[in-house]
Amino acid sequence: MTVDDHDSTGDDAAGDGSLTTEETFALVGDEVRAEILRALSAERGGEGELPSLSFSELRERVDADVRSSQFNYHLQRLVDHFVENRAEGTAQLIEDVVPSDDDGYALRPEGTTLTRTIRARTGTGEGSLDPVAVGLDCYHCGTAVEATYDNATFVLQCPDCEYLYEYDLVPPGILDGEAETLSRAAEYVRHVRLAFARGVCPLCGNAVDTSFDPPGETGYPRPDLRAVCVNRSCDHCGHRNYLKVGEALLRDPDLVSFCRERGLDVTSTPIWELAFAATDRDVDVRSTDPWEVALEVELDGETLELVVDGNLAVVERNYA
Ligand SMILES: [Zn+2]
Ligand SMILES: [Zn+2]
Repeated sequence: MTVDDHDSTGDDAAGDGSLTTEETFALVGDEVRAEILRALSAERGGEGELPSLSFSELRERVDADVRSSQFNYHLQRLVDHFVENRAEGTAQLIEDVVPSDDDGYALRPEGTTLTRTIRARTGTGEGSLDPVAVGLDCYHCGTAVEATYDNATFVLQCPDCEYLYEYDLVPPGILDGEAETLSRAAEYVRHVRLAFARGVCPLCGNAVDTSFDPPGETGYPRPDLRAVCVNRSCDHCGHRNYLKVGEALLRDPDLVSFCRERGLDVTSTPIWELAFAATDRDVDVRSTDPWEVALEVELDGETLELVVDGNLAVVERNYA
């Protein structure tokens, strides 16, 4: 469908206030409306009350070269979708934290989510990180593994055998405070992986689909060093993630406590330092139809074996 920006009444096709993806892109694609959202987001800050701006304050902050009536037209296009006019009531979610005499304009939760997403991925310049050793010898060939960050992508790879440890879209905020970049990248990657592992899209909260893909068909380097790639994908927003079986099981309470009791905290150790999660060397594909895949974690001479089915549900637990 097409959206005629200026002839539209602003009504949505469904009539329930919701917008299609196309309508949303069209709505925020205008310069004045984008500036309104930016100004309200800048006002919000990270603490205290959820502030609002009066019409004149907002117009002053936006500093757009448009007549008042035109500015109001753009502002009203956003109201009820990304912006609320508190004179007409406040989103139920936040009404308890808004002063009752507040009658300005502020971001709705949808506007907050949108502007946070944009701010998280922009505004810090073209951040990059030259190859830096992460203090890990490649599990396959012993060469020092290196991390890089470029084009908003965090990559951890062995420069010799090319085994890929991490390849993730990560916001440039990890570069803020150079010394902590690696630990922050590790935490961010874990956060995304564990959401997918638990079956929830970390971007949109939808349930995800699961498939076990042959490594040779994924485009990943060195498929010969992989047993299977667990693909979790969200058909709502398109987010997806390839998990190693060990990564997918990092949320398993038995695995967490088995490791903890033997001095290994898998909740804080970077995933690339956990051999059972960073490689497939402890993974055994028992069956492909139906899928049955075993992971063996060995610590201090004892082993925990977890077996998952094609939906990543643990169907067997064996201690030895
Ligand atoms: Zn290597
Ligand atoms: Zn999603």
